[in-house]
Amino acid sequence: MILPDYAIEATGLVKTYPATKTTGEMQALKGIDLKIPRGSIFGLLGPNGAGKSTFINILAGLTKKTSGKVTIWGRDIDERPRDARAAIGVVPQEIAADPFFTPRESLEVQAGMYGVPPSERRTMELLNALGLGDKANAYVRQLSGGMKRRLMVAKAMTHNPPVLILDEPTAGVDVELRRQLWRYVLELNRKGVTIVLTTHYLEEAQELCDQIAIVNRGQVVACEPTTTLLSRLDSRAVLVTPEVPVTVAPALAGFETRLRPGGAFAVTYKTGKSSVEQVLAAVRAAGLHIKDIATEDPSLEDVFVSLTYGDPTALSPTGV
Ligand code: ADP
Repeated sequence: MILPDYAIEATGLVKTYPATKTTGEMQALKGIDLKIPRGSIFGLLGPNGAGKSTFINILAGLTKKTSGKVTIWGRDIDERPRDARAAIGVVPQEIAADPFFTPRESLEVQAGMYGVPPSERRTMELLNALGLGDKANAYVRQLSGGMKRRLMVAKAMTHNPPVLILDEPTAGVDVELRRQLWRYVLELNRKGVTIVLTTHYLEEAQELCDQIAIVNRGQVVACEPTTTLLSRLDSRAVLVTPEVPVTVAPALAGFETRLRPGGAFAVTYKTGKSSVEQVLAAVRAAGLHIKDIATEDPSLEDVFVSLTYGDPTALSPTGV
């Protein structure tokens, strides 16, 4: 079998929600072009309302696109909808576990819905992989929130899809569970599963994804390997701790300054235009004695701000 270069390919994807009594027509996706490489951990990053869920719902066959072309694992969602859907497993945002099924039954029912014959089902293997082996016969209502979340991942994998989509997987999830979830997701990725992760947590995408697309107001504003995206950002910050703590960030000609805890301040400079040396000279010229300095790496928050800077319609990175 020839494997596709891209796990998912969207070209000119548009989604317009019709007007309701209270709201006007809403163009949630304004011509999205995205190529998600096979084998990657791909982050779809954007503030609330950017269009991430709309995109995922179109892939999952839950929302009908208005126009454009989408293929999943090389299968066009219009021409081969069933085959396209069989190639992805979606872990939804909300936990939607049936309280009357045990985890084992829940996975069996799910596998049945996808037409997986009993001999090919991997129910216990999946439950064990997600640390739910000893809960196989418990009622779902007896499981903790974290266990239910892991059950959702197991359900999404029952038909062994080559692409796994996690929609805001760690919203409201504790640190220990996050770590567990990522361990399993990374393991799946090592076995060749392409992972698509939507998030509005910048650190999460930065930490996990090898490629990131930033979406804002229904448009892709950047799509690059994570390292390229970060290096594209030409502003850096120097954290200065003065001998005498300051209560107001000092004004330094040509630089932007921000107050930091403990009487310190950060000075932002453009790598192409100035150097750390010039920053320090400006600090000294302002009459401040330096006790300590540290450099700060740019975060995706900085990237987002720099990419959408000057765009008054951009949503803020946190969606508020
Ligand atoms: P995200 O997942 O990035 O938070 P969504 O895809 O949920 O973004 O939403 C994108 C835009 O589409 C938002 O402005 C949202 O209000 C709107 N929207 C989402 N679903 C619907 C719907 N069913 N009907 C009308 N508008 C919708």
